[in-house]
Amino acid sequence: MRILVVEDEPTLAAQLAEALAAAGYVVDTAANGVDAHHLGATEPFDAVVLDLGLPGLDGLTVLRKWRAAGHAMPVLILTARDGWHEKVAGIDAGADDYLAKPFHMEELLARLRALIRRAGGHASAELVCGPLTLDTRSGRVSVDGRALALTSHEYRVLAYLMHHQGEVVSRSDLIEHIYAQDHDRDSNTVEVFVARLRKKLPDGMIETVRGLGYRLAGRP
Ligand code: CA
Repeated sequence: MRILVVEDEPTLAAQLAEALAAAGYVVDTAANGVDAHHLGATEPFDAVVLDLGLPGLDGLTVLRKWRAAGHAMPVLILTARDGWHEKVAGIDAGADDYLAKPFHMEELLARLRALIRRAGGHASAELVCGPLTLDTRSGRVSVDGRALALTSHEYRVLAYLMHHQGEVVSRSDLIEHIYAQDHDRDSNTVEVFVARLRKKLPDGMIETVRGLGYRLAGRP
């Protein structure tokens, strides 16, 4: 799953990027409202962490512009500690959740997990597909209760498929959600990751839908 972090304070931006990467997400960052607006309008993100006080274009304006253009990705805003009016304005502008600064990284991660699973229609932090379980809190994947060792790229591919189980996911969808924008994207590597995943999963779980992409099937 791919997250956009919009924060102009370099130390906090770096901490956020590091914590999110450690949690298994792909992270793009923007340090001003203009870049943030452009990225959010042109790249598919599974969630956005949006600071409101930004140079160039303030966060509320960025959010309103996204929503006016129909971009519906979950957005968590970062507000000032006593900024209750900011929270109200942010939610009215289309934010899905907020956190006041300073915050604990664990709380931010928990709120993001909740936003992403709600956006996908999942009620629980544990995603289940047939014999396969992915715990979005710990990043643990298991088959029939046995832990599965995955590389970070295999995990990203599987997490995206698990969030979209039963749906056909194209190679380009996968590429856009497992790599950040500045990464050298190569669609062949997706096939390599899928082939490796297939060796680790029960036979038939990842179906190839000819000409369209892949589908994670609950019952092979
Ligand atoms: Ca700021």
